[in-house]
Amino acid sequence: NSSFALSRHFLIHTGSIFVKAKKNINDIFGDISDYVIETTNFVEGLSESQGQGDIVDKAEAETFRSYVFKINNIREVLTRDHMKVAFFGRTSNGKSSVINAMLRDKILPSGIGHTTNCFCQVEGIDGHEAYLVKEGSEEKLNVTSVKQLANALCQEKLCESSLVRIFWPRERCSLLRDDVVFVDSPGVDVSQNLDDWIDNHCLNADVFVLVLNAESTMTLAEKSFFHEVSTKISKPNIFVLNNRWDASASEPEFQESVKAQHQERCIDFLVKELKVNTVKEAEERVFFVSARETLQGRLQEANGLPAHTGALAEGFQSRYFEFQDFERKFEECISKSAVKTKFEQHSSRGKTISNDMKLMLDNIFERINDLRNQKLEQKKFLTDRISNTETQLMVVTREMKMKIHNMVEEVEQKVSKALNE
Ligand code: GDP
Repeated sequence: NSSFALSRHFLIHTGSIFVKAKKNINDIFGDISDYVIETTNFVEGLSESQGQGDIVDKAEAETFRSYVFKINNIREVLTRDHMKVAFFGRTSNGKSSVINAMLRDKILPSGIGHTTNCFCQVEGIDGHEAYLVKEGSEEKLNVTSVKQLANALCQEKLCESSLVRIFWPRERCSLLRDDVVFVDSPGVDVSQNLDDWIDNHCLNADVFVLVLNAESTMTLAEKSFFHEVSTKISKPNIFVLNNRWDASASEPEFQESVKAQHQERCIDFLVKELKVNTVKEAEERVFFVSARETLQGRLQEANGLPAHTGALAEGFQSRYFEFQDFERKFEECISKSAVKTKFEQHSSRGKTISNDMKLMLDNIFERINDLRNQKLEQKKFLTDRISNTETQLMVVTREMKMKIHNMVEEVEQKVSKALNE
């Protein structure tokens, strides 16, 4: 129980790296946005005030305004950013069951007659009501039960590479609260359009999960799909789940050797064929699980019963732990990868914008400085001229004073001389 509680805690903790980073980066862009608006208003004020046209011209003021839009665009994309995980494998290997087990609820229809014949994306919403939206339509179709969803997905003749988006209340599932989006695919064995699939659904995926059937070996279709993926995406993050491992319980004498054989093949596939991992990394990417059993266990737990009451066969506990171990490593990987691929782009765009703005402001500052120096020089020239005139005036005045003084003295002398005579 305590190790289960611990792993739940860890799941929640690692899952929120992305959510935390998203909040932080959004706050930073909020600050940048305030700053940009303030600067833009200031610059526009400069360009509009009379006689200041030589400091900021109209085009420059417009460029500043465009930064406000650019920052707002980044913030908008940021709020839509999520971690995307795509599931691939042959039909009936248990892709839908793995997703359901991770979401702890029967969200996607699975089983005979419910073959997923198009791409299904499960994403979180804030409301209480689940709904689905088909590609090319805006209409929100109500889904209250899995059965209804299954019918909606199966009865329609949907193009196999089209996308049905299922919006599921975040409050019902912690992974959806953590901004993880799940994409289920039709079986790789039934499609002729793998290229379209990759272009339309894989290029923006952060993590891929290959769901294999542990009762058989990996097929050429499964291999070639991932070969295609790794030609278009550099070093994709791939997890390999050998599902239906509960079946091995019926043949305990072969269990270890079968596991070793599968493990070796899967590691060789990742390391030698796809060249996406080192052996050490690949060992952390291959798991032996039972999705159906994990889901059953979790549903039992939700009803207050012990998880093992959902067991399908002997050895439930170790398969259950292995599923949790997969989830832990998956969450760590998806969070790191999504932070890097998504936020790195935003922060480098943010840096470019703030650098451009800094250059423009530096330019304006230089121009203002030049203008100030010019005016100071003009002032100095004028002051010099004034003080020159003042000195000249003083000299002239002094000379005049002397002259008058002399004249007065002369006149006085002349007058007193005349009087004496
Ligand atoms: P998908 O076509 O790959 O999405 O496969 P589904 O999830 O629809 O599963 C196909 C069938 O296999 C369903 O009847 C599931 O209940 C069953 N199944 C899925 N996972 C397991 C498992 O781990 N063990 C067993 N015994 N059956 C499973």
